[in-house]
Amino acid sequence: MPSGDYPVPVTVTLADLTTFRVGGPVGRLVEATSEAEIVETITAADDGGEPVLVLGGGSNVLADDAGFDGVLVRDARHEIALESEDACGGAAFWVSAGMPWDDVVVRAVSEGWSGIEALSGIPGSTGATPVQNVGAYGQEVGDVVAAVRTWDRQERRIRTLARGELELGYRTSLLKRSLRRDDGWYPTPRFVVLRVMFQMRLATRSEPIRYSELARTLGVEVGDRVDAAEVRAAVLDLRRGKGMVLDAADHDTWSAGSFFTNPILAADTVLPDGAPRFEAGDGHVKTSAAWLIQAAGFAKGFALPGSAAALSSKHALALTNRGGASSADLLALARTVRDGVREAFSITLEPEPLVLSTTL
Ligand SMILES: Cc1cc2nc3c(=O)[nH]c(=O)nc-3n(C[C@H](O)[C@H](O)[C@H](O)COP(=O)(O)OP(=O)(O)OC[C@H]3O[C@@H](n4cnc5c(N)ncnc54)[C@H](O)[C@@H]3O)c2cc1C
Repeated sequence: MPSGDYPVPVTVTLADLTTFRVGGPVGRLVEATSEAEIVETITAADDGGEPVLVLGGGSNVLADDAGFDGVLVRDARHEIALESEDACGGAAFWVSAGMPWDDVVVRAVSEGWSGIEALSGIPGSTGATPVQNVGAYGQEVGDVVAAVRTWDRQERRIRTLARGELELGYRTSLLKRSLRRDDGWYPTPRFVVLRVMFQMRLATRSEPIRYSELARTLGVEVGDRVDAAEVRAAVLDLRRGKGMVLDAADHDTWSAGSFFTNPILAADTVLPDGAPRFEAGDGHVKTSAAWLIQAAGFAKGFALPGSAAALSSKHALALTNRGGASSADLLALARTVRDGVREAFSITLEPEPLVLSTTL
């Protein structure tokens, strides 16, 4: 058949759509340009028993080498709609799920909407931010989320969940907990985020700095307020130093950010000598997964022999693809680190990203 007579089918792979850059072919891809298209696509797939994967920037997913035999839906809308702005109530605005998160931070800092400046440089879409209540440098998105408009796949209706209904916690929410392997919706939550409403204070100065490393970098005390643009610049610098800002030329950023969450343990748990200990409320303490990994003998840059997957050379908590790694390589590394930490300290690290293959 002469080439050029027929359109050449292009196979989209999960490696093209995720920041780990691993994963096989996608059954079909829908880049939706309206809320109706998202809902119709998901409903038709649910009715037909076709698996659905709603993906934003693919920055919190470890895909499967076998690919995904279903419909992958991405929200192509990049919209911010201001609802109100006044000194009393601050700024209230809706953002479409597909809007890149860092564009929202840029807009907020330039408009003087305060509360997300420390969340600069986090990759991915706005719709994914309430799912795991993204956080960094002392701020969490849950501090400024007012409501989330969702498609409820179980009740088959639009549901707007107010902040109090979202059950936001450390890297979790009702939305994330509605993603379970055994509930028929997997690998997408029951609640699909369509839009997020934010409520922020009007101020060109940041919220009080809560993170001591950030305060040190800014030359201020914890609790001080600083120009929000300065906070953004300092956070981006700190993040780059840890390989936490996407950069195609830097393999340390071919990752999903932190691969394991920091363990939350009963307050009476005896932690290993020297392990950081933070109050986590409700009779719990939090310790550092990065500390445990290094103390268990996995240094930055650790790799299994012959593997193209390695811990980041800048941050022991990030698993990375050094180029040509497979999902199997990353899973083998994740298992080795998790099992090594468990053997050393009897603490089981839990993965933060969605792991699309069989369980770790
Ligand atoms: C270099 C790097 C640094 C990072 N730093 C941080 C950090 O500092 N703090 C932090 O919290 N995270 C961090 N992450 C993780 C990640 O960027 C965030 O979790 C981000 O919010 C994921 O957005 P996404 O659009 O890429 O989600 P995806 O990876 O596309 O999806 C993640 C999960 O959310 C679901 N999802 C996506 N969109 C929707 C939707 N509209 N409705 C319902 N479910 C949806 C997906 O099905 C999947 O389960 C980092 C990742 C990288 C690669």
